[in-house]
Amino acid sequence: MYTLDTIPFDNRFSKLSNDLFSDVKPQGLAQPFLISANPVVAELIGLDPQALKTASFVEYFSGNATLRNASPLAMVYSGHQFGSYNPQLGDGRGLLLGEVETASNGTWDLHLKGAGQTPYSRFADGRAVLRSTIREYLCSEAMAGLGIATTRGLGIIGSATPVYRETPEMGATLVRVAQSHVRFGSFEYFHYNNRPDIVKQLADYVITRNFPELEQSETKYADFLLAVVTSTAFMIAQWQAVGFAHGVMNTDNMSIIGDTFDFGPFGFMDDYNPNFICNHSDHEGRYAFNQQPGIGLWNLNALAHALSTLIDRESITQALSQYEQLLVNQYNRIFRLKLGLREEKDADAELVGSLLDLLEDQKADYTNFFRLLSHCQHSSPEFETLLRDRFVDRSSFDAWMLQYQQRLMAENSDPVLRRETMLATNPKYILRNYIAQQVIDKANSDQDYSDIGNLLTILQNPFEEHPQFSHYASDPPDWGKRLEVSCSS
Ligand code: AMP
Ligand code: MG
Repeated sequence: MYTLDTIPFDNRFSKLSNDLFSDVKPQGLAQPFLISANPVVAELIGLDPQALKTASFVEYFSGNATLRNASPLAMVYSGHQFGSYNPQLGDGRGLLLGEVETASNGTWDLHLKGAGQTPYSRFADGRAVLRSTIREYLCSEAMAGLGIATTRGLGIIGSATPVYRETPEMGATLVRVAQSHVRFGSFEYFHYNNRPDIVKQLADYVITRNFPELEQSETKYADFLLAVVTSTAFMIAQWQAVGFAHGVMNTDNMSIIGDTFDFGPFGFMDDYNPNFICNHSDHEGRYAFNQQPGIGLWNLNALAHALSTLIDRESITQALSQYEQLLVNQYNRIFRLKLGLREEKDADAELVGSLLDLLEDQKADYTNFFRLLSHCQHSSPEFETLLRDRFVDRSSFDAWMLQYQQRLMAENSDPVLRRETMLATNPKYILRNYIAQQVIDKANSDQDYSDIGNLLTILQNPFEEHPQFSHYASDPPDWGKRLEVSCSS
């Protein structure tokens, strides 16, 4: 385990063509202090968790000091935002500090979000407010706990630096950790600027670093595209199964390794609603929950176009054509686990479809429905009563339950095994919007950050019971369902 002074730090991205980035020194925060730090991510990158408690952690990650061998830089990219091409984007308020190579866990980028202006900030201040860093930090750890590919959060630093949004707020930084910070939009930028040489250099960099098994392939760029298609399809299938909406699926927010990336006005569904729009600026519902699978393919098309100087048309079509089936297979596989089904049967699509119709119609809480269903078995009828009582239309619920019981009997389902599978697939805890809001309100008004640490623990282990924190698993109160998430961050 390393300390902050011994951690082997490098920045191979900074050695690529300087068309890809601008060197930028972080602008430090005033009177920085630790808001929260994450020992799980520290261990992931080989850092001794004791380092999180040191003054140097705060100095380095407030941007007031520079880690040895760090070469902070802002990456350039472009992207399709709400369907229109924006030719000039880039890290406007985040810096890639460098990377840590671990013995057995791969290589991790450290990225400092909220570190001040860069050449890509346009008219914005380069800062992040505490509210948005808390949301990203907790959500990335929730996604990881749910087993969904995601960037991670090492910690949050607060400060006396005011940041002006609708009102003055506390300026903060988030230390984001990921195995890549390359976006679909990184490739688009160089493709549309007529730089196929840089498209190739960037593709080679990503392949060497993240897909080394493809390096020797004669069709490595086509294989690379197929790998991105596959990981994106898997990630989105998992979002759909857990009820997560990203909110801003612009191509600049799509990670090349299929991580859930750049958390903004995301939302986990409370009541099941396939038309759920978590981003209140998304008036057309382009990124509504049920649009995400299609948008994933739209974005992959944009990426494929940006790679068209490296891959022939036929291989592109071939890679993209696999997306839908990959996503559907993964989604069906997860739903079998959610329902505790061992075998694959044709009629299961109907069983799942009628359940989702019922949940939508009855405005049932998506997460709590599946968690309670996991506890239902012949020997514990009280759970079934609890579940049934959640429905206004009991007869529709009974009809579905009968269909489900028959399906379980048809494969001779073992209730003990089934319960075990279902409890390991249907989380008790998700990062509900109202919970995130309560944590943020307490942080902003009372400077009380203790709930952040508590939530971190349960969200990183969302399938465990944590009886002392059961209140975080309650259905949201009515006010909690109507919260509007501001896009400003
Ligand atoms: P986002 O919607 O957060 O993905 O951001 C879109 C673009 O705006 C990215 O290039 C960001 O770096 C940039 N951006 C967002 N907020 C700020 C800010 N406060 N200062 C500078 N750039 C920003
Ligand atoms: Mg972004």
